[in-house]
Amino acid sequence: MLWSKLFIPTLRANPAGEPPWRQLLQRAGYLRGADRWLFPAQRSLRKIVEIAREEFGAAGAQEMLLPDSGAFEDIAREIRSYKQLPQIWYRFGAGPYARACGANLEARAFGVEPLALDGVCRRVLDRCGAPYAATESSFAAWSEDGEDSIALCAACGYAAPLELALAQASPPAVGDPEGDLTPEQFHTPGCKTIAQVAEFTGLPESAQMKSLVLVAHDAPILVMLRGDHQLSEAKFAALAGDPRFRQARSSEIFEWFGAAAGSLGPVGVRNMPIYADRALAGRRNMIAGANRDDHHLRNVTLGEDFDAAFHDLRQIAAGETCARCGAALTVRKAIELSRISPPRPARDLHITNAGAVEAPVWMGACSIAIERILIAAAQSGFDKDGLVLPPAIAPFDVIVTPANIGDAAQRSAADAIYRECLALGLDALLDDRDERPGVKFKDADLIGVPFRVTVGRKLAEGMVEIVERNTKRVTDTAVAAAATAVKLTASA
Ligand SMILES: [Zn+2]
Repeated sequence: MLWSKLFIPTLRANPAGEPPWRQLLQRAGYLRGADRWLFPAQRSLRKIVEIAREEFGAAGAQEMLLPDSGAFEDIAREIRSYKQLPQIWYRFGAGPYARACGANLEARAFGVEPLALDGVCRRVLDRCGAPYAATESSFAAWSEDGEDSIALCAACGYAAPLELALAQASPPAVGDPEGDLTPEQFHTPGCKTIAQVAEFTGLPESAQMKSLVLVAHDAPILVMLRGDHQLSEAKFAALAGDPRFRQARSSEIFEWFGAAAGSLGPVGVRNMPIYADRALAGRRNMIAGANRDDHHLRNVTLGEDFDAAFHDLRQIAAGETCARCGAALTVRKAIELSRISPPRPARDLHITNAGAVEAPVWMGACSIAIERILIAAAQSGFDKDGLVLPPAIAPFDVIVTPANIGDAAQRSAADAIYRECLALGLDALLDDRDERPGVKFKDADLIGVPFRVTVGRKLAEGMVEIVERNTKRVTDTAVAAAATAVKLTASA
């Protein structure tokens, strides 16, 4: 491509008030605003997409054009036999990295046995060349400007996205009353929140159970948490298999419980499943709503007064310790590049197995944020002169720069090298602009093209310069050998 015909609006000065990676992408003419990716960026993004296509294709995956990720499970209902499994399907679309526009990859793996997708995601990231760290269920690039948080244990190396991290809860502020006590209703006038009940009873919030009514796949689920704990929506969505779950409406709550949201409790509930957070295990004689307005129960014990399935459902809080080793957890900012959801039985999807017995189908999921890979590459790949992107995702492989476009000999030699590069399968850019050499060299450095072939004064001796962007190493090469030399070095 000819630079004179392209729109690559490079800037000399750093845009103020932007994080360094965003300044660089703006200066290099890749980005305007938060999400207006210009032509050079789109070339990089396309390369990331192609790498993902190649790696998913190599894993036997099939690309589909689907409006949303819910369509995967709908279509999977047409899988008739275990002989059709495993299947890996993927699509490019906007979700689930909602703030990022453009292409994100989402995949589902269906199998008679759980099928992991982390290997193929890792191969995509490895080939793109941006550095990343692995957590329990994601791959992420550390970043002070990142929107994501990762909980880390320095002692044992545990790492997980904050909203999915496991931790040992701090002990309740006071111990539970001893003994096999019977639930006892008491009047709590005007007490609608955990804090109000704590103030009224003089007992800490951790002595209460919090009741949340959530609707997943159109069916209600009662979720019990310790009074001072918060729900992790991400954990619940994963458990319920419904990222679009919602809170129950007040009319629904009244219909199901006969009371308003401030007085709900688990005792006597039979019309919906009850999930209890693991921090309630072993607790006794707690306070919960009585399913009667302005009334609560004391002496409620899980396993005696109601039954529930234990799950990890809470968002970890400051000061909690590592679930594995008990050491302190820290939180670090990051950009999540890929999320892996462990396989679970797919909803409403059954097939007959080899023994003609109906069996569940396992579904694993993963997503890859295409733009964030470019951002991660930019924030770790730069020097004082501009971007130094990994060659696999740079917008061009090589830029051919005649120092003086008005010099006919330079122009024609540059043109010949440019065409030869194209013929060798290199993504080549010819800087045919009528600019001073210094401007062209600065721009070439700024946009992060891995190799520059400079056609200048040495042409009189039949030589050109090959400059490596990363190391700034300069090699003199015969004109006729230049394109091949770039090709060989690029594929080394
Ligand atoms: Zn640990």
